[in-house]
Amino acid sequence: MTDVLPPGERRPLPTRLSPSRASDFKRCPKLFEYKTILGFTTPNTIATARGTLFHLVFEHLFDFDRVDRTVENAQSLVRPGWELLVRPDKADDEVSDPIERRLRDASGLWIEVLEADPRELSSTLERAADYRALAPMGSKAEVEIVTQVEKLVANYFAKEIERVQSFDPHGREVHVQAQLEDLTLHGFIDRLDRQELSPGEERWFISDYKTGKPPQPQYARESFFGMRVYSLLLEEERGIRPYKLRLVYPSADRSSGIVDEVVDEALQQNTRGHILTLWDDIKACDESERWPTKKARLCNWCHFQNQCPAFT
Ligand code: SF4
Repeated sequence: MTDVLPPGERRPLPTRLSPSRASDFKRCPKLFEYKTILGFTTPNTIATARGTLFHLVFEHLFDFDRVDRTVENAQSLVRPGWELLVRPDKADDEVSDPIERRLRDASGLWIEVLEADPRELSSTLERAADYRALAPMGSKAEVEIVTQVEKLVANYFAKEIERVQSFDPHGREVHVQAQLEDLTLHGFIDRLDRQELSPGEERWFISDYKTGKPPQPQYARESFFGMRVYSLLLEEERGIRPYKLRLVYPSADRSSGIVDEVVDEALQQNTRGHILTLWDDIKACDESERWPTKKARLCNWCHFQNQCPAFT
């Protein structure tokens, strides 16, 4: 863990949050304090490295023309994608693989581009160094990361979780941001799709890729938290109300690979109310400087357990 603030210093409560920060508070106020107020960071892991590579591949799969969106072409992105994540500082003449070059062009991961934004450059280089340390070149860990993502791609095509040759996304990694009273919420939607039903009649879909298994029905509601926030932001910012929110699980079967939820007025209003209540609770904790712990099963995966008052 890295302390980005001098010991004992606290950050003022930010008024701009992402759904994942809000989700931290829902999970446990103390966790929110550690990450957002005290500035503690969580380390990269093999799982986060695999997740980043997986998202990169699924984002750029749609760079191919429809007819070329084949399993072979999708899998051809995996190894160059990993190279791009672990070596973002390669110079132009060090990149000979045409797919890696195309990925770098499409994602702006060239050192000259990154240098224009020193914060982005330093976080990208830091992440790359972490990934290289976790999975050195030729190591078992590196082979596993690449192989697991290739398998996810293979399953996604074999089970026809989606028919990627039959549509083009409206947008990928779409930034949305809106103001809810004194809170700014923002985030990135993995994929935004628009379906034209007839002239002037359309439906919008927000899709989010997940590396894990589909949730049990009793936990599905919780999995939609971030998507519901995106849905609200999309309507607030652009006047677009999505028809459905879709969680996409490439590791699943055709019947369970898409878990979706229909959006209606009640859902949008509930989400708004939920977020504003959460925000009031966050402000109350900040004012009192009391961030209670919330013990639950997920504590076993919490990076801060060894310093958490609930466990010490
Ligand atoms: S270990 Fe559990 S209670 Fe403690 S900060 Fe983490 S999530 Fe909260």
